Amino acid sequence: MTAGVQYDAIIVGAGPAGLSAALVLGRCRERVLVLDDAQPRNKASHASHGFFTRDGTSPESLRRAGLEQLAAYDVSVHECCVTELQRIAEGFIVGDQTRRWSGRKLLLATGMRERDTQIPGIADNLGAGVFCCPYCDGWEVRERALGGLAMGQGAAGYALGLLTWSAHITLFTHGCATLEPAERAQLERNGVAVVETAIERVIAGECGRLRAVCLKDGSRVALEALFVHAGQHQHSRLAEAAGCELADAETLRTRDHQRTNVPGLFVAGDAAAHVESIAVAAADGYRAALAMHSELRRERLR
Ligand SMILES: Cc1cc2nc3c(=O)[nH]c(=O)nc-3n(C[C@H](O)[C@H](O)[C@H](O)COP(=O)(O)OP(=O)(O)OC[C@H]3O[C@@H](n4cnc5c(N)ncnc54)[C@H](O)[C@@H]3O)c2cc1C
Repeated sequence: MTAGVQYDAIIVGAGPAGLSAALVLGRCRERVLVLDDAQPRNKASHASHGFFTRDGTSPESLRRAGLEQLAAYDVSVHECCVTELQRIAEGFIVGDQTRRWSGRKLLLATGMRERDTQIPGIADNLGAGVFCCPYCDGWEVRERALGGLAMGQGAAGYALGLLTWSAHITLFTHGCATLEPAERAQLERNGVAVVETAIERVIAGECGRLRAVCLKDGSRVALEALFVHAGQHQHSRLAEAAGCELADAETLRTRDHQRTNVPGLFVAGDAAAHVESIAVAAADGYRAALAMHSELRRERLR
């Protein structure tokens, strides 16, 4: 470690991306600090799906196992919300309201968050009848009456995609999406009902299902699950504050092995990915760790 710098690597975020990177860096005998404020994107979910060997495991169990397995290595974990990021000659300083830490390499694995629809009942039932991703939760509600709430571009495509899991699909636009005549015709040909009236609220049912979507005109549509496609935003603005380039309005641009345009600063997981899943986030973290270690190793050579 460079004199005066406390850690070889600092990782902000202990989701699948950050924990995977911490494990690999720990195994490379790097001195690592993980800082996390325990608000992972899938916190509301009861079971994670589609992750090889762990299909159906709760996000909390995955997280606990990831943290426990770091205990064998020189990896410290501290719960806090990082609010400060500064570049220094030897690397980076990060801090919260009370403390600061320095490291030679920095990985931001801070994830994304769902955009708030402001529709009563949606945020409250996330993970229990309201879902974001049919690849994650579609199988569990297959062949049920499903809704797709899509409030912008791609609304028709989103609803048509849900036909993979059920033939009983209603597209809700909440009055916020414009459907072209060709799209309307395709939705109709494929049996997808379209509701363009604004939603008043979503009503929970039993056993992690919904009962209905109530509309502003007083009518209601019975359904068991609603998939929401309302967009997302960066969980943290640290990367942008550090000067990292964006690939689009809400995704950070990364180059080879999760490098950003800021030397020594890497981004992994949902914050950088266009495919957002536990498997991809873990793979990103692994990739970033290899590159971080490779830079550290080269810098140490005499
Ligand atoms: C309801 C729901 C269900 C899902 N189900 C599945 C599923 O079944 N299968 C699947 O593969 N994917 C699922 N996903 C997607 C999955 O949650 C994400 O792809 C995955 O969590 C991304 O991992 P990550 O490490 O990039 O980010 P996250 O898991 O979001 O972790 C980021 C971490 O960084 C921390 N953090 C952020 N900013 C700061 C800061 N400034 N200081 C300190 N810490 C900070 C956060 O608190 C969090 O702990 C689901 C998502 C949702 C919303």
